[in-house]
Amino acid sequence: MALKIGIPRALYYHKFYPLWQTFFTELGAEVVLSPVTDRNILKHGSDATLDEFCLPIKVFFGHINTILKKVDFLFIPRLISTEKETYYCPQFFGLPDMVRVAFPDSPPILEPTFNVKGKGAAIESTFIELGKSILKGKTESLSAYKKAIDAQAGFYSMVAEGTIPPDVYKELYNKPTASAKKEKGLQTTIALLGHSYNIYDPLVSMNISKKLMDKNIRLITTEMVGDDIIDAEMKRLRKPVYWASGREIVGAANHFLDSKDVDGIIFIGAFHCGPDSLLKALIEREAQQGDKTSLLSLSFDEHSGEAGMITRLEAFLDMLEIKKRRGATAS
Ligand code: SF4
Repeated sequence: MALKIGIPRALYYHKFYPLWQTFFTELGAEVVLSPVTDRNILKHGSDATLDEFCLPIKVFFGHINTILKKVDFLFIPRLISTEKETYYCPQFFGLPDMVRVAFPDSPPILEPTFNVKGKGAAIESTFIELGKSILKGKTESLSAYKKAIDAQAGFYSMVAEGTIPPDVYKELYNKPTASAKKEKGLQTTIALLGHSYNIYDPLVSMNISKKLMDKNIRLITTEMVGDDIIDAEMKRLRKPVYWASGREIVGAANHFLDSKDVDGIIFIGAFHCGPDSLLKALIEREAQQGDKTSLLSLSFDEHSGEAGMITRLEAFLDMLEIKKRRGATAS
């Protein structure tokens, strides 16, 4: 019988699922993915963590709770750095340990460390070691790793073409959706920026991407912005941004604040998040420098009300519409 490996539908699932899913499936394992976040999952996550934790971490613990009795292993990578310039938020370093404390009856945890700055840093060897922990040999693991890298690259190119990650996942793992290729007749373009686990989790983000796409708004998200643009924007900053994803978020925000590529920018952050406070301050400071693209900053925790978010969103969209009409009249 195939080994069951549990992957929580939270945090960097939203960015790396094709890589992880392909690797384990190629090695003959069955990947068990937790369900879409709902209030019950959040409640269990909040009960298992401290109040001070950010919403995405609480959601993650809720997902662990839903799958821990159904799998042989939990997959919880220790993400430290996956690119030379940045580090992940420290919450990611200790996730496997925190889960063991919160759930003493958890199954064994597969916890590879991804740290391209450390010793023995090659990601390839990390995957070979990961394969070993489920009794797979080097050749098998290497072959699975190569297929996993191809799958991840395929995911990135679909996102780069303008499909948001949840719709790419639906195309890859479920049924195609109508919203994935809505290109014609779009009136407004918005850059929706923030950590992937804030933007794409329907409960954390209160489904903001769907709300916007239902209004026929075209979305550009952080992952769709090219590395050349991010690198150029980083060179303009007095100090580099060291947080993984933070670099991309600030780079994308600064680019869109100055360009006419989008009509507005929405930044989504989490309360109790040190890195997000810094990113928000950097983006808002830049937004105040002269004639910039309009910006809406939203921060969520488990007590945030949907009605308040919708009111702010509607007001922002109305303001963009007025600006657009004025612009059309003036030209
Ligand atoms: S970056 Fe912020 S939101 Fe993300 S895990 Fe760390 S504290 Fe939580």
